Amino acid sequence: MSVVTEKILEPLRSLFFPSHCAHCARGVEEGRDWCEDCAAGIERVKPPRCETCSQPYDGVTADFLCPNCRGDRFSFLCAVTVARSHRTVRDVLHRLKYNREMWLARVLAEIQREGFADPRLEGIEFDALVPVPLHPRRLRERGFNQATILAEHLARTTKIPVREFLRRTRYTGTQTRLGRKGRRQNLRDAFSLRQDADVTDLNLLLVDDVLTTGSTLDACAAILLENGACSVRALTVARG
Ligand SMILES: [Zn+2]
Ligand SMILES: [Zn+2]
Repeated sequence: MSVVTEKILEPLRSLFFPSHCAHCARGVEEGRDWCEDCAAGIERVKPPRCETCSQPYDGVTADFLCPNCRGDRFSFLCAVTVARSHRTVRDVLHRLKYNREMWLARVLAEIQREGFADPRLEGIEFDALVPVPLHPRRLRERGFNQATILAEHLARTTKIPVREFLRRTRYTGTQTRLGRKGRRQNLRDAFSLRQDADVTDLNLLLVDDVLTTGSTLDACAAILLENGACSVRALTVARG
């Protein structure tokens, strides 16, 4: 089923089916996405965590920079993430991406939207939300880019436009064999600015579903900055 068809069917679905929990499908009050148990299973990333990459750390008292961010700095100013990719959130992200349950994008975007209240993003006037692109081959396989769909949901409430400034030119596949530096370079070569894009002096927010090592967001941020963007930050639903 196409994304467009899903968009049309989703409002109809809620007419014919009562509200149910996005994770366990138990009946819930109208307008709720989660039952109480599953809502409680969503673990927010809270301080103490790294100011730059949001890596949570126990046993430190204030915000700080983790060893990763202290040494080899990322190109983005910060990568804000709302939840940990555990149980509930991981399952729902997986079902969106691999089972094409498109209605879950709105549910996940609701969580992601909380990131705009993070002190690192609050009050910043973003010129555009920039989804992390998929390689065209991956896009054909999946039928949609989850980052674009999340960004479109965020755009509805924030009124920040979605601009697909980036494209993924290389299919990187698994990178586990490369070291950290090699992975970084390999990824940087995988992205480029779209020909018609002009990012000069723009304050941009990269949007993706999950942050794992941060190297994909780093590569995207590097391209945008090289092409004249004023600043690049990132927002993801979850952290792996
Ligand atoms: Zn539930
Ligand atoms: Zn860090």
